[in-house]
Amino acid sequence: MEECELCGSPVSAPYTVLVEGVELRVCAKCAKGKKVMNRPASARVGPASSRGAAAKPSQKVKEEDLEVVENYGGIIKRAREAMGIPIKVLGEMINEKETLLLRLEEQKTLPSISLARKLERALKIKLLEQPDVVEGSSQQRGKGELSIGDFVG
Ligand SMILES: [Zn+2]
Repeated sequence: MEECELCGSPVSAPYTVLVEGVELRVCAKCAKGKKVMNRPASARVGPASSRGAAAKPSQKVKEEDLEVVENYGGIIKRAREAMGIPIKVLGEMINEKETLLLRLEEQKTLPSISLARKLERALKIKLLEQPDVVEGSSQQRGKGELSIGDFVG
């Protein structure tokens, strides 16, 4: 059981709140009036929860369709620094090597989808996106054989 970082009372499902830019894990009482980042998982599942177990959401994006955002290194670094934790600690949080994370921040290594997901969760950032569908350009190209000469004449 964790302890509330504000009042110290034991709390089984702490809230993550933002206090002056710092994330704290606190009890429900202390979470009141604060900016809540993350509610405890056990907090109220809703009466219809038994139905959701069988039916899968049909519009779920396939993992293969996701790609890591272009500037992932900077995003990771900024988020980590905002949390005020060294790379080593982040590595311990997500059970990855410090050297690997360093290479990610320097964009020398592209994270796998599962690693990116871990980082997303740990740092509360967005690293994965659906690739943009190229609009227009692919259709226009190839067909038109216009050369500048046609206009200049
Ligand atoms: Zn408290």
